[in-house]
Amino acid sequence: MADLQGKVALVTGAARGIGNAIAAKLAENGADVVLFDLCPEEAGIAAAEQIAADYGVKTGFRRCDVSDYEAVQAAVKDVIKTYGGVDILVNNAGITRDKVLLAMSEQDWDLVLDINLKSMFNTIKACYRNFMKKKAGKIINISSVSGLMGNAAQANYTAAKGGVIALTKTVARELASRGVNCNAVAPGAIETPMTASMDQDALKALLSTVPMGRMGKPEDIAECVAFLASDRAKYITGEVIRVDGGIAM
Ligand code: NAP
Repeated sequence: MADLQGKVALVTGAARGIGNAIAAKLAENGADVVLFDLCPEEAGIAAAEQIAADYGVKTGFRRCDVSDYEAVQAAVKDVIKTYGGVDILVNNAGITRDKVLLAMSEQDWDLVLDINLKSMFNTIKACYRNFMKKKAGKIINISSVSGLMGNAAQANYTAAKGGVIALTKTVARELASRGVNCNAVAPGAIETPMTASMDQDALKALLSTVPMGRMGKPEDIAECVAFLASDRAKYITGEVIRVDGGIAM
């Protein structure tokens, strides 16, 4: 299916993990894709070139800390100038700094909120006028089942991911009359570098709560994002779709 041909997608945290699978899936569906990430320049360029080679679309890379308001405004402005606009914005970049609240530092609270939530204010604000002018657009924010259920030792992360859901619904309401859809995807336990770095006992315990009995793949999330980015999902907005093997039903 190439129903995203002619569209420009911007995906944050796209050099690896879920973001990379999303960027590849949007490209497979015909979109040109710009990858934002904090990784070294060479790694980002290589990731973008790989997607271009695999799917024959235009790709680009911008090294950008999505929690830095000014850096995001400048990088998005440059993308809009270079590619003529943004049609699909996927806010995926995220980190964890897990500790029980009593042991959590103020720095770990601020960092996780800045990278997981404020980043979305930064990118959506930078793309807002572009979407209003186009009278069309798709914004897809990556939340987490932790943002729906809460999770011990993740006060910072769950607060951010819950905030992502509230932000998604507000942006959906603000931009619905402009033809812009804004939705969230809430992954469960997905095989990525983020989960590979988790304590293995905690991961085992988590897996025992998944009705499907296994972890998901980054491609499972990418399929859902590609659907939400397409006009097949044109009457869906302000929604949160869980892709979690049933963990949070
Ligand atoms: P990941 O493997 O750690 O990849 C995250 C990517 O985001 C990395 O490429 C990272 O860059 C980038 N990033 C981090 N901070 C950034 C910043 N300030 N500016 C720009 N890019 C930044 O994580 P993942 O598992 O793919 O997770 C992707 C998203 O899904 C996150 O929002 C996460 O919370 C969410 N999620 C994941 C799971 C799961 O089980 N994996 C479950 C629920 C939700 P560097 O390489 O430079 O660090």
